[in-house]
Amino acid sequence: MHFLFYSKILPIFAFKILKMYQQYPSLLLENAVNELSRLPGIGKKSALRLALYLLRQDVADVARFTDTISAFRNEIKYCKCCFNISDRDLCSICAGDKRNRRIICVVETIRDVMAIENTGQFQGIYHVLGGVISPMDGVSPDDLNINELEKKVADGEADEIVFALSATLEGDTTNYFIFKKLSQFPVKITTISRGIAVGDELQYTDEITLGRSLLNRIPFEKTLK
Ligand SMILES: [Zn+2]
Repeated sequence: MHFLFYSKILPIFAFKILKMYQQYPSLLLENAVNELSRLPGIGKKSALRLALYLLRQDVADVARFTDTISAFRNEIKYCKCCFNISDRDLCSICAGDKRNRRIICVVETIRDVMAIENTGQFQGIYHVLGGVISPMDGVSPDDLNINELEKKVADGEADEIVFALSATLEGDTTNYFIFKKLSQFPVKITTISRGIAVGDELQYTDEITLGRSLLNRIPFEKTLK
């Protein structure tokens, strides 16, 4: 029994522990792996592969890579009108002179702006909420850019507000919350038609379906039971 334990079982156990606590020959490498593995979808194994790949590149190339990421994080701005990401105070959409500034499409994230822009079917401007109301995730209306939207409508800046949030419970809750807030103002409130299946996130919908949904928008009140 003892013989079996020391000769067979213990080495397997020790090997497993060793694998769990990967030893690195360099603290610098270990730090790089730890940082890279903080990225979503990157495990320790992938992080090690990426770190070793970077090690094989020219120092100047790696510097350009890290400088680019640093500049992106440090210098990016949020459009002061719609909260889209931007290099200037106003994003290129808000600053564009061909857009109808009186039709405002309400979306959750910057990725939704990109998805709708890719359809080429929307000529208005956007308002990025920064998420949806989700008590489960601790997101309340105050965490989102809802007051800023209400101010635009109260100031008479919009003829139409178009809801283009995900067809999820949280998206519906957010639509209804904003609808209630804005119903006191003389503004048309519409929603993109739900050719988009329930539960779909906007950015995963194909361009043709999304484009059609934008063109065939319907009064929001019609969607209320
Ligand atoms: Zn903007």
